Amino acid sequence: MSVQVVSAAAAAKVPEVELKDLSPSEAESQLGLSTAAVGAMAPAADGGEALVSPDGTVTEAPRTVKKQIQFADQKQEFNKRPTKIGRRSLSRSISQSSTDSYSSAASYTDSSDDETSPRDKQQKNSKGSSDFCVKNIKQAEFGRREIEIAEQEMPALMALRKRAQGEKPLAGAKIVGCTHITAQTAVLMETLGALGAQCRWAACNIYSTLNEVAAALAESGFPVFAWKGESEDDFWWCIDRCVNVEGWQPNMILDDGGDLTHWIYKKYPNMFKKIKGIVEESVTGVHRLYQLSKAGKLCVPAMNVNDSVTKQKFDNLYCCRESILDGLKRTTDMMFGGKQVVVCGYGEVGKGCCAALKAMGSIVYVTEIDPICALQACMDGFRLVKLNEVIRQVDIVITCTGNKNVVTREHLDRMKNSCIVCNMGHSNTEIDVASLRTPELTWERVRSQVDHVIWPDGKRIVLLAEGRLLNLSCSTVPTFVLSITATTQALALIELYNAPEGRYKQDVYLLPKKMDEYVASLHLPTFDAHLTELTDEQAKYLGLNKNGPFKPNYYRY
Ligand code: NAD
Repeated sequence: MSVQVVSAAAAAKVPEVELKDLSPSEAESQLGLSTAAVGAMAPAADGGEALVSPDGTVTEAPRTVKKQIQFADQKQEFNKRPTKIGRRSLSRSISQSSTDSYSSAASYTDSSDDETSPRDKQQKNSKGSSDFCVKNIKQAEFGRREIEIAEQEMPALMALRKRAQGEKPLAGAKIVGCTHITAQTAVLMETLGALGAQCRWAACNIYSTLNEVAAALAESGFPVFAWKGESEDDFWWCIDRCVNVEGWQPNMILDDGGDLTHWIYKKYPNMFKKIKGIVEESVTGVHRLYQLSKAGKLCVPAMNVNDSVTKQKFDNLYCCRESILDGLKRTTDMMFGGKQVVVCGYGEVGKGCCAALKAMGSIVYVTEIDPICALQACMDGFRLVKLNEVIRQVDIVITCTGNKNVVTREHLDRMKNSCIVCNMGHSNTEIDVASLRTPELTWERVRSQVDHVIWPDGKRIVLLAEGRLLNLSCSTVPTFVLSITATTQALALIELYNAPEGRYKQDVYLLPKKMDEYVASLHLPTFDAHLTELTDEQAKYLGLNKNGPFKPNYYRY
């Protein structure tokens, strides 16, 4: 069965994309197979072994032969100078997602005084391997602490590890990854390792790598090529070092933004002969995959993690609900009570921002173009207005539309003194920041990520992160939310890697709903949440399998 799904970003560019999905029964039967294949990492369907009991407790995975994990660095030494490819200027410029500023956690060890490029350093980990390139391997201990802290908030990945004690559903998998390198990613990578995979990793963003974490991963044997503040040239060099390896070829891709996939397509198209699938997390990367698919150029199956319910609801709604206040607070030290705020866009991100600000006592206005979301805003108790109607009086303007030029120069001219302007949407063109770079306006950098833009009469507005994503630029993202996304990624990898020939074609798929439900169920024990079990009679009445999936694919949550 195929359903029409249009993601926010894709909607802006591609009116309609066809997303292959599985009907509940297809997913169910496939999951049954998958369960066998992956050693019960995924939920069983009919007759399979249920892993989460109704009260959310964990049951043991079936035992199979234990296989040995072997990392790439146990076999090879990589200490080459940068390849020609890396130094060459590139025909395709670095992507938006690669350059969006992103700060995931504070650094414990200040290495800013060390100006030497990691590419010019000779480093070895304590086991003698030099198959990595990080800022400073000596920071590994600090990074390890960060990873241990993250583990506490990533219960599902830890549960997958536990269940995989006798089970290696990713044995033989050679995963090349390109994601933000943070403590949370480290927990994901180490989980993939525990499930049997060999991993090589680069950063998907030139600013987001936590150097200490990269060092800890390199110390424990992961070939990681990443540091904070890479140049564009470094960025591609790191990706190349992950894939251009003698005696090692990836058979799975985990990408965030599509740059790694793009690189392999461009430089090593033959590698796709051995690649079983791509798992992509971001809107941008997914959009590129659909383009490839439409052009008939997608040569392996791909999983769109971005549009999984568990990713979208949690990453967009709950993550933004938590991080909007954090981003505003860290940059401005402001008090929210009684402040007048206008939030542009009442989608998932907008809903999260509005809920948080309302809870803090702010007076919240909403702008919308879609009558359905507009009505939702009204029913939730927000005043629906046009931006023009409130622009003179509000203290804060927040854009969350995924659209462009939502806040124009005209709006900016009319704002009151000290109005704070920021963006939570993907694109940094929601606020027309370029229009503020005119000679009559003075820019004053008052803090990191905070600019005062001053009009000739002395009025100033407070522009945060130059109109880029506020929370990713100026605050941290809750680990628990990332746990949900990371678990979805892990299950997508397991599913694609173990899928029998022919289950997935050269197309873009959503993770079967039952796996989405499984991801959610793995997070329930954290809350001591007790799930109700359908009775036989109820299951029959609703026409459902007692173990799920519980909703049709078109259900909106
Ligand atoms: P969404 O499609 O659910 O919501 C966007 C809303 O904006 C829609 O309801 C749309 O009708 C409305 N809109 C569009 N143009 C508008 C305009 N000119 N004025 C007023 N409203 C308008 O999307 P979403 O999931 O809420 O994501 C919104 C953006 O945030 C996307 O760009 C997405 O990539 C990004 N995002 C950010 C984060 C983060 O952590 N900051 C997380 C997830 C997604």
